[in-house]
Amino acid sequence: MALLITNARVVTWDDPNRIIENSAVLIEGERIAAVGAASELEAQHPEAERIDARGQLAMPGSICAHTHFYGAYSRGLAIPGPAPQDFPAILRQLWWPLDKALDERSVRYSALVCLVDAIKHGTTTLIDHHASPNFIDGSLDVIADAVDEAGPRAVLCYEVTDRDGSEKARAGIAENVRFLRAAKDRPRIGATFGLHASLTLSDETLEACASAADGLDTGFHIHVAEHEADEEDSLRKSGQRVVPRLQRFGILGPKTIVAHAVHTDEAERAILRDTGTWVSHQPRSNMNNAVGAAPIDRMREEGVKLVLGNDGFSNNMWAEWKAAYLLHKVANRDPRLAPGDFIAQMATQNNARLAEVFFPGETIGRLAPGAVADVILVDYHPFTPLAEGNLPWHILFGFEASMVTTTIVAGRVLMRDRALLTLDEAAITAEARAYAPTVWESYRRHAEQALHA
Ligand SMILES: [Zn+2]
Repeated sequence: MALLITNARVVTWDDPNRIIENSAVLIEGERIAAVGAASELEAQHPEAERIDARGQLAMPGSICAHTHFYGAYSRGLAIPGPAPQDFPAILRQLWWPLDKALDERSVRYSALVCLVDAIKHGTTTLIDHHASPNFIDGSLDVIADAVDEAGPRAVLCYEVTDRDGSEKARAGIAENVRFLRAAKDRPRIGATFGLHASLTLSDETLEACASAADGLDTGFHIHVAEHEADEEDSLRKSGQRVVPRLQRFGILGPKTIVAHAVHTDEAERAILRDTGTWVSHQPRSNMNNAVGAAPIDRMREEGVKLVLGNDGFSNNMWAEWKAAYLLHKVANRDPRLAPGDFIAQMATQNNARLAEVFFPGETIGRLAPGAVADVILVDYHPFTPLAEGNLPWHILFGFEASMVTTTIVAGRVLMRDRALLTLDEAAITAEARAYAPTVWESYRRHAEQALHA
């Protein structure tokens, strides 16, 4: 069955980007079959089901390079004891007790509420990093089933760590290995090998991960130098900074994502560049955790491959664009930094090339014949001229989350005119909320234990 989006202003996000007026997008099966003049495609495909875009922008769905579905139950959560004074304290008082509180049911609802949010905000591919140390085995299947039900594209992994003991570290490794194999048979689901961060990984565990990943044709997904503590710990443990330490175990490369890299030095960034490792930037999270502003303009000059994630913040990726655009200007008192075209390149073309790593053979993130049909409609009618050259600034200053009206992934319509078609938002919200007191109570017990440890 063919689907024809007519009467659209098409943004291709090709490289270079093109905007095509009075256009139509023909979708056949899971892929885009044609992009062209609306009048021609309408005449050629009278049988196709129509979506009249009414002059809206049709563009590829947003891609998120680093997120954590599992953090959903942190919304509105009270942290016992004094407010955490720095990022290591935030980990100890908030995230590590929260991940311990998760079981099968809360993992499922964490994923579903994030997927509702993603579809509503037009984010069609999400690269997730999961932790639930009291429910490890099979946890990635629970998330994958939620993704299947919802309809977006996702890349999943389990974060291996030594912080809960060697048995759970081994279970984390096994879950990655199991899921890397299982994901091959699942449509729209990719997999990678998750690691928490250098500061909670021993040499023995890094070695075990590298050897378990051997032969699975995978890279890794790991937090790097989010705070100085990661570098200090690595120097203490190994005499090396984080990036050379990870390189020694074969963790880096063109299939690996390192999140943050806020405190990497020039030599570390040269290694990231030379190994072709992806560096994901999460400005809202960095501001919230007060860890500093990653030197993204320098990394860009140095040739590091940069992508944009949200670290569990809302799946409205344009909010992340805006944070990136603003953060580096104020942090460095320089309005020339993080220009709009750079932010757009990072969030669209770069994120798309990263997504393609996990879906070999597919073209993702552009509206072009042969590409996957991951398409959104944006109800934006600007009062100034809009062209390829100034589109990034229209997005940064004009786009709002509420403007996404329709979300399509792999040719399947997940939201049409703001109505969700695959998920029952009210039911999911009610179920998630009904379980929240149980999750919060379990979190509180773990958090108090951590406080008195
Ligand atoms: Zn993260």
